[in-house]
Amino acid sequence: MTTEYQGRIEIEPVQTGEIEPGRRGFLGIMTAAVAGSGLSWIALARAPDAPVDDKSRWGILIDATKCPADCTACVTACNTENALLGHNRPTSDAQWLRKVQLKDKATGRTLSLPVGCQHCKSPPCVDVCPTGASFRRADGIVLVDKHICIGCRYCMMACPYKARSFGHEETHGQKPHSPRGKGTVEACTLCVHRVDAGQNPACVDACQQKGHGAMIFGDLNDPNSPIAKRLATEPSTQLREVLNLNTGVRYQGL
Ligand code: SF4
Ligand code: SF4
Repeated sequence: MTTEYQGRIEIEPVQTGEIEPGRRGFLGIMTAAVAGSGLSWIALARAPDAPVDDKSRWGILIDATKCPADCTACVTACNTENALLGHNRPTSDAQWLRKVQLKDKATGRTLSLPVGCQHCKSPPCVDVCPTGASFRRADGIVLVDKHICIGCRYCMMACPYKARSFGHEETHGQKPHSPRGKGTVEACTLCVHRVDAGQNPACVDACQQKGHGAMIFGDLNDPNSPIAKRLATEPSTQLREVLNLNTGVRYQGL
């Protein structure tokens, strides 16, 4: 089975966000809320004197053979961790992580896997951003600085993984560690607030708590980390590898 998005593999999204047309302006309320909390819109949990460096490169390894088609624990955890769901609605226009079904037309084999931002080392979303809002941290985490995002959505068009969402709606119930804003683009932050606190991303913990163990988080640069050891000894795949984006999210079993 290949991981090409086109060709003999069919991709059937099983969880999609509800997209509303049109942009309804930039936010102001969240700026005030976050400013009032003393938090930055990026790298929220880092101590001010703890600079990020490139000694680590954070990534996730996903074993699709361990990911049941009917399990969406990682998606639910992402939505909860980042308060993504709409107010009094079961869906939102924000979707940072989605389950995707793959089907090999030749054999009928199916797989289910979570797909979000791949935290590319050469991210097209960063290349096209006219303001510098879309950026990659030295440790490999790709983020959007919502202070300077103008909502042009160039990055959404450039991303080969459909990983970014646009905030069409007013946001409700936001969490200080994951500020959001109507009129800006957002995507998986690799739970940067948790990573900076020495924890796993919420999706990885949820998968482990479910007992599936399909996701491993860790430092790709550390040869002694479990994720690096697995990548060194077992075959793995980058989605759309032909693009040479050097993704921080890798897959097994495709
Ligand atoms: Fe950017 Fe898309 Fe790559 Fe994430 S997956 S770093 S949004 S190009
Ligand atoms: Fe940059 Fe925001 Fe435009 Fe994306 S929508 S390219 S982050 S300014």
